[in-house]
Amino acid sequence: MNEEKPSIVVEEYLQEIYLLQSIETPVKATHLATRIQSSPSTVHATLSRMQRDLLIQVDHKKNITLTGEGEAQAKDLVIRHHLAETFLCNTLGIPWYQVHKHAHQLEHAMTPLVVEKLAQFLNHPATCPHGVPTQGHSDPALQQSIPLDQTATGMQIKIVMINEYLEESEDLLKYLHEKSVVPGSEHTIIEILKATNSVTLDSETGQVTLPFDIAKNIRIEPVTSNTTS
Ligand SMILES: [Zn+2]
Ligand SMILES: [Zn+2]
Repeated sequence: MNEEKPSIVVEEYLQEIYLLQSIETPVKATHLATRIQSSPSTVHATLSRMQRDLLIQVDHKKNITLTGEGEAQAKDLVIRHHLAETFLCNTLGIPWYQVHKHAHQLEHAMTPLVVEKLAQFLNHPATCPHGVPTQGHSDPALQQSIPLDQTATGMQIKIVMINEYLEESEDLLKYLHEKSVVPGSEHTIIEILKATNSVTLDSETGQVTLPFDIAKNIRIEPVTSNTTS
């Protein structure tokens, strides 16, 4: 590498590949072009640079995977992103559904000392305000959770995580907030309808129906109603 630190563009690609890898394999350049809203030629140029710098591997089927170094850098970015989101939400009081885009700007400017001090100041948060675990998808709480589209009618549930994948849409997060579908909230599944590919839940503010495309990116855990002790 001829630069000490990857550029902001490369950092964004690392994060996107890491994120896409966690929800769908394999990752292709076309997925990235859609997510990053860049032309295929720009995406191709950046990916070539990342391949040269040994951050990614591209196989003969054009599947993109992070190298060990690429993954280490992506994980470091996730930590910075989560600290920035937690700081903006918990300390500055910006609503949870708005912090993502601001954190996205801040995370690139944080030096290792700032990261260390901020982690101490925020008491090493295990998740971001959307419930995404900082240690990644191997997190035990996340392992036990299931996607909202794979629940059953009548089930009592608690929202564990709203996937980073949905965070790009502030309108969607704001809608979920207005419908009380927030991390930690509890609901009953009113109906799972395969015919319309949607799930309906109750919430404090009435019923809310979500398409499976959104529901599959929301992780829940079943709530057992037996209240012992
Ligand atoms: Zn975020
Ligand atoms: Zn988040």
